[in-house]
Amino acid sequence: MTPPSARADGERRIAVYPGSFDPVTFGHLDIIRRAAKQFDTLIVAVLNNLTKSPLFSVEERTGLLREVTKDLPNVEIDSFRDLLVRYMRSRNAQVSVRGIRSVTDFEYELQMASTNRQLDEGIETIFMMTNPKYSYLSSSIVKEIAKFDGAVSDLVPPAVEAALRRKFAAKR
Ligand code: ADP
Repeated sequence: MTPPSARADGERRIAVYPGSFDPVTFGHLDIIRRAAKQFDTLIVAVLNNLTKSPLFSVEERTGLLREVTKDLPNVEIDSFRDLLVRYMRSRNAQVSVRGIRSVTDFEYELQMASTNRQLDEGIETIFMMTNPKYSYLSSSIVKEIAKFDGAVSDLVPPAVEAALRRKFAAKR
């Protein structure tokens, strides 16, 4: 296959995968690995959303993402608190990547993608279907299980499992 960087116009293809990643799961990681193969650079961008109350701080979330993607040289971790389209312009990114697990995800994502298109026609959203192995998996489910000290080793990388254990031990 021709590498993405071998485009005739020489333009580097930069994509952003935005999300809460509170915390990153094997479902996210599967999308990251697959998307990284399609672009020269994939920026995984943690949304610093002041209206949500996350379990992990933005620094903790970006730290975990860095740890679990350290074997992927074209993946960069960042955070933002702006409109996605404005952030993407600032990073010179043309494409936003989102994952779809269900019809419910699709409806929400369609609304988001249409809104972003309305704000900036130059930005494209592409969707990647979940790996069926992880179609039920969400950060919320992982937090719910970890809160009651259940096993999450099939759902998140070891570094995330350890961080969850520390977080909930500190809360008990
Ligand atoms: P957000 O708060 O933006 O939905 P999330 O961290 O929950 O942030 O999700 C980020 C993106 O990853 C979303 O597009 C979501 O649909 C996708 N995603 C989350 N879990 C999975 C999974 N198990 N398989 C595929 N995509 C997923």
